[in-house]
Amino acid sequence: MNTLATRNADLPRSTTQTVTAVRRWTDTLLSLRIDRPDGFRFSPGHYVKLGLPAGADDAVWRPYSIVSVEADDELEFLIVLIPGGAFSEALAGIEPGHPVMLSSSIFGFFLEPQLSPGDTLWMLATGTGLGPYVSLLRTPGALDRYRRLILVHSVRLAAELAYRDELEALAVTDTRLRYLPIVTREAGASALSGRIPALIADGTLAQHAQTPLDPATGRVMVCGNPDFTTDMRALLNARDFVPCRRGNAGSMLFEKYW
Ligand SMILES: Cc1cc2nc3c(=O)[nH]c(=O)nc-3n(C[C@H](O)[C@H](O)[C@H](O)COP(=O)(O)OP(=O)(O)OC[C@H]3O[C@@H](n4cnc5c(N)ncnc54)[C@H](O)[C@@H]3O)c2cc1C
Repeated sequence: MNTLATRNADLPRSTTQTVTAVRRWTDTLLSLRIDRPDGFRFSPGHYVKLGLPAGADDAVWRPYSIVSVEADDELEFLIVLIPGGAFSEALAGIEPGHPVMLSSSIFGFFLEPQLSPGDTLWMLATGTGLGPYVSLLRTPGALDRYRRLILVHSVRLAAELAYRDELEALAVTDTRLRYLPIVTREAGASALSGRIPALIADGTLAQHAQTPLDPATGRVMVCGNPDFTTDMRALLNARDFVPCRRGNAGSMLFEKYW
């Protein structure tokens, strides 16, 4: 996890916000919208800490990537509910009107401008790792420097393909975008199936994207579970992709969720 914090000036350490909408994709996956404090600034790829009451006078805090955009009056998050997880248990019955605490600091280095200029942006996600890419794709002009955008979202079940309608519609209006969903545990639910690293290793993903994965032209963002990010780092290293270091642009960026 990248932990650099930037405090939004003139705001207290945390504020209490109100839930404005809850969209339940499945019993264990939801999008949460909360109102946004005046003066709260961020960029696509940043994450914040959300807090919920837990116990008599305690709170549980967890990091969540922002799905919404600067121009939105509200903040949006894509959140999985983990059985037995402290935050998940506190979040399970969340409804509009409920309070949620929000850190005033924004965190992270999973920021697309850290990548050196390239021709094709590969946005690779497992599960809720999709969130930062939705924020990027919703931000007008954010990806203007690319000729091709390839978004790959891997989930277990088709119902977990959050934002699918929005992304399919975007791929129609922005012909640079190829949206490639992968469903791993429902045979026939998507054109692609299997783990993303394996689909890259055997050339299947490049074939479906109609684009080679090449460090000379490709820039890669990887967000999701630790097995995925670890395997992708090894695979991309072997193909001569270069990590972004503070102050030095590279050709690959990672965000690991646990
Ligand atoms: C930088 C960063 C950004 C994050 N952004 C998001 C986000 O946008 N959406 C989101 O749902 N979570 C995100 N997480 C994970 C999140 O902070 C919590 O860990 C998660 O919501 C579970 O919290 P919990 O208290 O219920 O369970 P915990 O006790 O914190 O976690 C229990 C277990 O759940 C599993 N787990 C944790 N997160 C996930 C996940 N996202 N998908 C599948 N399994 C998971 C792990 O095995 C973990 O050990 C992010 C984590 C980091 C470090």
